[in-house]
Amino acid sequence: MRLLLAEDDRMIGDSLRQALRLEGHAVDWVYDVAAAHTALTAERFDLVLLDLGLPDLPGQPTRPTAGLAVLRALRSRSDATPVIVLTARDATADRVAGLDAGADDYLVKPFELDELTARIRAVARRHAGRADPALAHAGLRLDPATRQVTQDGRPVLLSAREFAVLQALMQRPGAVLSRAQLEDRLYGWGDAVESNAVSVYVHQLRKKLGAGVIDSMRGVGYFLAPAP
Ligand code: CA
Repeated sequence: MRLLLAEDDRMIGDSLRQALRLEGHAVDWVYDVAAAHTALTAERFDLVLLDLGLPDLPGQPTRPTAGLAVLRALRSRSDATPVIVLTARDATADRVAGLDAGADDYLVKPFELDELTARIRAVARRHAGRADPALAHAGLRLDPATRQVTQDGRPVLLSAREFAVLQALMQRPGAVLSRAQLEDRLYGWGDAVESNAVSVYVHQLRKKLGAGVIDSMRGVGYFLAPAP
């Protein structure tokens, strides 16, 4: 998934970004309210991790609930992008304010990374309106919770990026995803995008799953071949 992380604490942000990348997510990181606004109006994200204590502008002091403005602005545009609020304070009032402003979930710092990644999966699943956490298509089954993929019941071992490409395709079976859309799922801002990376991952997926599973439309992108 492509995530926006709004967090002004460089150490916390850095460790979160590293951990989320290892999970196969593309992470864009902003440090203040203004940058979060800009990112959310310019780009689409699958999910936002929003620290409530942020400065309004770069170089300004942190305000304890400044992040709520980001959330309110998003919801006032009827943008339903899932948001998990991160709060340093175990203050019930802050959590209630976050949920009232339209947050999908919240975590109180300090939290375990395992809990964060589980909440991300749960929120993304609820957002997609799926009760079954696994994605299925034409004999393929992909479980985001366990990160297991099976084909006709047999386990298939995928790298984090192969998994991310297959997950993106399986979330919208039949839809053609462009190379740029798939790159967005693999890389955050400032990441060096390897040229042809998407083609390489698709090639590896075809070797592991069979040539006919992922189809391509020349010059447009890739899609999952329909079930036979
Ligand atoms: Ca903060």
